[in-house]
Amino acid sequence: MMRAPKLRELAEAIKSLLARPATVGFPKEPCHVYEGFRGKPEFSEISCVGCGACAEVCPANAIIVEDDKITESKNSNFVRRLTVRYDACNFCGNCEAHCITEDGIKLTMEYDLAVPDRQLAREFIEHRLICCELCGTVLTTIKHLLWIYYKLGPLAWGNPNLMVTAQREMLPVEPGLPGEMLRRPDIFKVLCPKCRRNVMLNDMNG
Ligand code: SF4
Ligand code: SF4
Repeated sequence: MMRAPKLRELAEAIKSLLARPATVGFPKEPCHVYEGFRGKPEFSEISCVGCGACAEVCPANAIIVEDDKITESKNSNFVRRLTVRYDACNFCGNCEAHCITEDGIKLTMEYDLAVPDRQLAREFIEHRLICCELCGTVLTTIKHLLWIYYKLGPLAWGNPNLMVTAQREMLPVEPGLPGEMLRRPDIFKVLCPKCRRNVMLNDMNG
């Protein structure tokens, strides 16, 4: 005659056979993800201004910032490309937490990130750059400068770069050639810190 513990085990085995599996049938069925899940990071075309702060705080170096070289093209094609490599991402959420606009990059609910080639595991966004009009040094993106301008309000009028950029209504400026003569009106150009210092010194000392 079968003992009681054996009967119990048999009942459990039959119950398990008839019950639904405890694990999810992924990839045949989608998984249910809960609020707060940290999946694939994605840039927002609207809110990202291209400042690059997210790349600075990424512990996995999963965000790459690349600026076009000034010698190759004039300003109209001059862009900053931010690429997030989600094959390198550890989903820590630092980029989202430290984004200056708060919504420029978000960790989405997307969890199915398998790709046949790692090179495909990336998303990017591009922004037009603004450069020093005298030496061509990259300052930042036009969108970033305008974001600062609106953030500062009337205080922005104390900074010629912000003022000139806002007045030009986001029109790209032609980068100058290194060694161009410094003149007083150059104060009212978009300049990198080094050129602005030189222009101010030239203005003061003649
Ligand atoms: S706006 Fe946010 S997402 Fe865009 S580059 Fe700056 S920190 Fe990164
Ligand atoms: S979630 Fe973390 S590791 Fe992934 S891109 Fe953002 S900062 Fe880098």
